[in-house]
Amino acid sequence: MKSVKHWIGGKLVDGDPRTSEIFNPATGEVSGTVAMASAADVDAAVAAAAAAFPAWRDTSLVRRAHVLFRFRELLYAHRDEMAALISAEHGKVHSDALGEVARGLEVVEFACGIPHLLKGGFSEGVSTRVDSYSIRQPLGVVAGITPFNFPAMVPMWMYPIAIACGNAFVLKPSEKDPSASLLMARLWQEAGLPDGVFNVVQGDKVAVDRLLEHPDVRAVSFVGSTPIARYVYETGSAHGKRVQALGGAKNHMLVLPDADLDLVADSAVSAGFGSAGERCMAISVVLAVDPVGDELVQKIVERVERLTIGPGDDPASEMGPLVTGPHRDKVASYLDVAVEEGAKVVVDGRETPVRGGGKASETPGFWLGPTVVDHVRPGSRVHVEEIFGPVLSIVRVGSYEEGVEVINAGEYGNGTAIFTNDGGAARRFQNEIEVGMIGINVPIPVPMAFYSFGGWKSSLFGDTHAHGTEGVHFYTRGKVVTSRWLDPSHGGVNLGFPTNK
Ligand code: NAD
Repeated sequence: MKSVKHWIGGKLVDGDPRTSEIFNPATGEVSGTVAMASAADVDAAVAAAAAAFPAWRDTSLVRRAHVLFRFRELLYAHRDEMAALISAEHGKVHSDALGEVARGLEVVEFACGIPHLLKGGFSEGVSTRVDSYSIRQPLGVVAGITPFNFPAMVPMWMYPIAIACGNAFVLKPSEKDPSASLLMARLWQEAGLPDGVFNVVQGDKVAVDRLLEHPDVRAVSFVGSTPIARYVYETGSAHGKRVQALGGAKNHMLVLPDADLDLVADSAVSAGFGSAGERCMAISVVLAVDPVGDELVQKIVERVERLTIGPGDDPASEMGPLVTGPHRDKVASYLDVAVEEGAKVVVDGRETPVRGGGKASETPGFWLGPTVVDHVRPGSRVHVEEIFGPVLSIVRVGSYEEGVEVINAGEYGNGTAIFTNDGGAARRFQNEIEVGMIGINVPIPVPMAFYSFGGWKSSLFGDTHAHGTEGVHFYTRGKVVTSRWLDPSHGGVNLGFPTNK
């Protein structure tokens, strides 16, 4: 049985004796325990980060970049090990876990360009013999609080940039799949990052609350569900911190009648059921504009029935289990809600066979196969609530306008996609839709590392999105310096406000 600890000041630390269980979602068995930090454990991590900060801030940009390059190489070399840790605790299949490591690595690669990213501006001669320049400086100790669904990639949206900018970082990963964070810590150390610049506190609300209140934590990045994102934003802001808090999602794919329906069906199934639908950018609702509904549903069902469900470490598996038993039960409960609401369950994931087991509902482990619900009514619970599992809803709409109205009426604004061959419609969509990340014939439009990731409305609280240049802005603050080097002919005392003569 493994025992996952904290990583503070470059060492594994036991901390408070309270622990929580870690499960193997494919079997339902307990595979280990994870430490649950007390406020004192968080204080120790923040103190280690605060002690490491001044020297790291003063480390040259080029040396910081060297450490990042080495970290990138080490992480790439250990990608299979990282993916195996993720699969064992999250349940996602190995290839999908490798994909998340690859997307995280892209942020590290972006952060390797920090000498360029932190270039300021310089204006010579803004007034007589006066020059002005802008610089960006790190904040100090910054924290990241992350969800279970991307235990490697989401922390990597944050810490490569935070650390490259010269901050010291405290990560509080999800207690459901905490092991990836310790491999990252080990690799940072091997890459030559000074101890204390990257720390991990394992835990739950106790750790989160202490990070939100701690006077030495200057900024908090959060990714998770909307109620907790709102809480983190409000509490962190009330304690004077800079906060970006990314929340939940309910992403729609709008299918216009001129779209290529085979492409649409492939995309809907890939984006709906990859990672068992436990992605904040998963497509969970297909809005089929008349008259394509029946044909599209038939194409989706054909594909769903061919999917192979099984343990994440089985190379034949295309979709793994859900993360925990309670989460599986919650997701499965929506099948009953769908029936109560008058929708039609056309593929029932409880019946899906699991490799090496029986049907999903009777196999040990947290199984639910891909589920398709047709004729979901706009505004019904199945339509609007974040289910965060392998349940794809089909909503029939009469027109493009009706589809846009349905999307814009939603609480969330994370991602959305339009499938069409009509460039004018696509262009109108990107303009009219109230969502932060848009795909045009792309079902999971996750921005590249050099753009920024974030939704609108209840999908993000705060001003800045994650990574890209907005990430650099989040983890630094600006200064403007105005300098004058006098020559002997300076003009003497002048009590007037400085203006340019
Ligand atoms: P969660 O909100 O339950 O947990 C996220 C983090 O908050 C974890 O570290 C957890 O320990 C902590 N936490 C949980 N309850 C808390 C509480 N009461 N007080 C303080 N901290 C608390 O989210 P999850 O179930 O781990 O992840 C799934 C959610 O994350 C989904 O809603 C998904 O849409 C969202 N998500 C969003 C994005 C995005 O970019 N917008 C990305 C990934 C996941």
